[in-house]
Amino acid sequence: TKWVYSFGDGKAEGEASMRNLLGGKGANLAEMSNLGLPVPPGFTITTEVCTYYYQHGETYPSELAEEVKAALEKVGALTGRRFGDAEKPLLVSVRSGARASMPGMMDTVLNLGLNDETVEALAKDADDERFAYDSYRRFITMYSNVVLGVEHHAFEEALEHYKDSKNLSLDTELKADDWKHLIGVYKKIVRDEHGSDFPQKPEDQLWGAIGAVFDSWMIPRAKKYRELNSIPESWGTAVNVQAMVFGNMGDTSATGVAFTRNPSTGESALYGEFLINAQGEDVVAGIRTPQDITEKARIEANSDKPSMEKAMPESFAELTRIYGVLEKHYRDMQDMEFTIERGKLWMLQTRNGKRTAKAALRIAVELAGEGLISKDEAIKRIEPGALDQLLHPTIDPDAERKVIATGLPASPGAAVGEIVFNSEAAEAARKAERKSILVRIETSPEDIHGMHAAEGILTTRGGMTSHAAVVARGMGKPCVSGVGSIRIDYKAQTMTVGGVTLKAGDVITIDGSTGQVIQGEVKMLQPELSGDFAALMEWADAVRTMKVRTNADTPADARAARKFGAEGIGLCRTEHMFFEGDRIVAVREMILADDAEGRRAALAKLLPYQRQDFVELFTIMSGLPVTIRLLDPPLHEFLPHTDEEVQEVVAATGVSEDKIRHRTRELSEHNPMLGFRGCRLAIAFPEIAEMQARAIFEAAVQAAKDTGAPVTPEVMVPLVFTRMEFDIVKSRIDAMAKAVAEETGATFEYQVGTMIELPRAALKAGEIAETAEFFSFGTNDLTQTALGISRDDAATFLGPYTQKGILAVDPFVSIDREGVGELVKIATERGRAQRPNIKLGICGEHGGDPASIGFCQEVGLDYVSCSPFRVPIARLAAAQSAL
Ligand code: ADP
Ligand code: MG
Ligand code: MG
Repeated sequence: TKWVYSFGDGKAEGEASMRNLLGGKGANLAEMSNLGLPVPPGFTITTEVCTYYYQHGETYPSELAEEVKAALEKVGALTGRRFGDAEKPLLVSVRSGARASMPGMMDTVLNLGLNDETVEALAKDADDERFAYDSYRRFITMYSNVVLGVEHHAFEEALEHYKDSKNLSLDTELKADDWKHLIGVYKKIVRDEHGSDFPQKPEDQLWGAIGAVFDSWMIPRAKKYRELNSIPESWGTAVNVQAMVFGNMGDTSATGVAFTRNPSTGESALYGEFLINAQGEDVVAGIRTPQDITEKARIEANSDKPSMEKAMPESFAELTRIYGVLEKHYRDMQDMEFTIERGKLWMLQTRNGKRTAKAALRIAVELAGEGLISKDEAIKRIEPGALDQLLHPTIDPDAERKVIATGLPASPGAAVGEIVFNSEAAEAARKAERKSILVRIETSPEDIHGMHAAEGILTTRGGMTSHAAVVARGMGKPCVSGVGSIRIDYKAQTMTVGGVTLKAGDVITIDGSTGQVIQGEVKMLQPELSGDFAALMEWADAVRTMKVRTNADTPADARAARKFGAEGIGLCRTEHMFFEGDRIVAVREMILADDAEGRRAALAKLLPYQRQDFVELFTIMSGLPVTIRLLDPPLHEFLPHTDEEVQEVVAATGVSEDKIRHRTRELSEHNPMLGFRGCRLAIAFPEIAEMQARAIFEAAVQAAKDTGAPVTPEVMVPLVFTRMEFDIVKSRIDAMAKAVAEETGATFEYQVGTMIELPRAALKAGEIAETAEFFSFGTNDLTQTALGISRDDAATFLGPYTQKGILAVDPFVSIDREGVGELVKIATERGRAQRPNIKLGICGEHGGDPASIGFCQEVGLDYVSCSPFRVPIARLAAAQSAL
């Protein structure tokens, strides 16, 4: 096995496609070298070494030391330096790099190779020896922190203390001698805190750093990130060792990050931040406020600090050239890190940039427009779930708002919530089903769980590329960063700005699109679904083969779903209608009635309501198919539970309290999920199904008359396990259709079908299809009954099941392809064999889950049905699965 891959000087042993082996960073450094771009030479220790390391008691393959030595010599040859040399020392960075980018998870060590001797050589070579000592003190702090575990603040305090004693305020005011002095102090700190001297041998430093990178793969925050992003532990990380270039060599040097397109809006223009005379992560760390790259951005931001375009025109031109090369080559928006050393630009990283959903859409649509990618490719580029971000509200521009501060618009969208000052509080709020805004001076990877729990994030420090901003954009959460005017007091749990003091628990609104922080709750607006969104959806609709319907019980749902492009209703749950207004009284009367006569009388009161519901749904869906499910839940769900409710029913129906309680007891069940529900109701109390069928058909006639569009209702019988059940209910429905046709003199089409939600129904699908005209897979119940897991009780034990790998994912979120999926397949095959044109759909929660939609495509369903807000997601997922 080859463990080490070199790059530099216009060539490389690796390339972009070797990301699994070299990690993302290493693969792209190799690729950029191959493209002839200016990349400091270096080498990548493969992810296989990481795997080996953990499989062999944290030891390395025996050949590794030799390969590293040889690769280091190659780097030395290219730079004219030697690692550890007293005259011409080679300095390197040691950088982690997993397959998938894990922002901020593992820290990079810069300036490695410096010691008391090599720092002198560096000082001699430089225009200003200050640079050498600045680099050395950075190295000591970074290395001690990352490798030796000495906390940062020990060094920071020493630095602050020194600055105070010398009356200095900015790091840049410190001269070479100041740093020299501090280096002595720092070394003493290391000795005290770590128990031994700061390592002077470059070799030791290097292996210490390499080991630290591998070790960091298993630290809790890395594990947490992997868990949240489904990154397998087995992937491992690579280590990149690369010759240093220095952005801190004075005013002709700089360091920066840039995107080839705006990661918030998607606008096609170079976008980013840089800092003159700075190194490494100074830009991201938010210690100094970075400068804009383009003049346009500077003007827009109204900044008085010169842009890179103005201050360093040659480097800007070079960056512009390179970004063109990279975008063409990768055919996607790039997120680049660069450093300028005495006027010469070096590329240190490129990767496909993270972006908001809005930006992702615009970029995909524009790249397709530019001919860089095909429309199909554009469709594939958008993660369906990410569309969610676009479907959510923004602040109504006309709403009154009390803006108390403004920061950077770091991640778009608006959010309202109560102030929390730490991640634990954010999690606690979420557990209590309260919305929160996480307010921090800045965030770090430890805050990720809190960021997940909060509706939005507000920081007082850090730029557009700060941790908070990058992570929030990835999560699709609104974020306002760098609100310098807000003072946070963690101890007192308050934030203060312009004389206003807000406490934890007070409500604020943040607008991640403008950077505004607003006191109290502000009115929100529904999103616009035109422009890039509409364009991409149109492309998606053109390629997909499955239809997308919605689950809608109310006119409001149906209307929202139509706006999102639903092509009909796949599931209308009629029971929800029974709770509306004072209908519940009639429902209870029906349940409490002694005989069919009594039930009929009560049902007659419900009929007009139910008919009106359906007229509205048919009208909204004008001509599109509408599937209506007959009453499904156990009747006791409708009975009064509290004493107060019982009294209400007594008053409204005249039925005695005793009788109500008796009937409630009678109807109560040990296991209602498997109890008196579904078609069992229609079989025992056919008059309920008859009333519903009448309402459906009368509504169909009326809606067809009103709108001029023919209505073809699909009447769906729930929880069938054998054909006989279905036939009994169907005969009542057919009889009612005939009656309504005769009474009204109208002719109409309709279909009667069934849910497949019990394993036996799936197996007997061939027989059931003899009379059923359509199947809708109710995969919520089918999952419950196939796995024998009650969905409502699953939370207590599903956690360990997914952790132990018994279930890859929660089967209620993403369909269990192997088990439940097989039942769906069997039912599909047997159903189709019996009735070739049988209509097949899915109406469980899975209908809105992209992975499950892929499965539906594979088995060849005709449509998926999902909640209104997931309709666009399903349209896109269906398109992707058809490609
Ligand atoms: P991360 O994965 O956290 O972005 P990187 O390995 O990219 O960490 O390193 C962070 C920063 O350190 C880079 O953006 C760059 O500014 C600086 N850096 C890394 N390697 C070098 C190098 N060889 N020369 C100069 N700066 C470097
Ligand atoms: Mg980092
Ligand atoms: Mg980086």
